[in-house]
Amino acid sequence: MSQEDRRSAPRHQRGRFIPLQSEFDLQRGLFVLPTHKDDTARLIGSRCRECGDVAFPKRKLCPLCDSRERTEEVFIGEKGTLYAYTVLGPPESASDSSTLLGLVALPEGEELRVIAPIEGCDPDEAKTGMALELTVGRIDSDPHSGMDVIGYKYRPSGP
Ligand SMILES: [Zn+2]
Repeated sequence: MSQEDRRSAPRHQRGRFIPLQSEFDLQRGLFVLPTHKDDTARLIGSRCRECGDVAFPKRKLCPLCDSRERTEEVFIGEKGTLYAYTVLGPPESASDSSTLLGLVALPEGEELRVIAPIEGCDPDEAKTGMALELTVGRIDSDPHSGMDVIGYKYRPSGP
């Protein structure tokens, strides 16, 4: 993909518009953006038409059963709970520059879990079982282009 394509393509994701503050690249095929201000981002998963198993990222065929039927696309992951987590970064500055990386359990599947950065939560206050909500924002910057990488992450959703 050329540099020009990378700059212009993310402005519309699946027909949904988001205002651009700066140049960025988008993790494609993993989530949909909110369509209006009261809407929320969702992850793009797949559901088996035979056994109902939900997978993320989406798969064409069910990873669980022998169904030959193609899965259907489902939007999931608006809410989740912290199943496990780890803290990335130098331990002596744990509450400053470190990143909390979570394994988030989603309600759409019995053993459906996604790995995602957790923002807005002090590593000292992270607790398994805490309620989380999906958000989309900068997760990294591309070392080659310098553009922000926009991806999905979770944050505490309150009591
Ligand atoms: Zn299945």
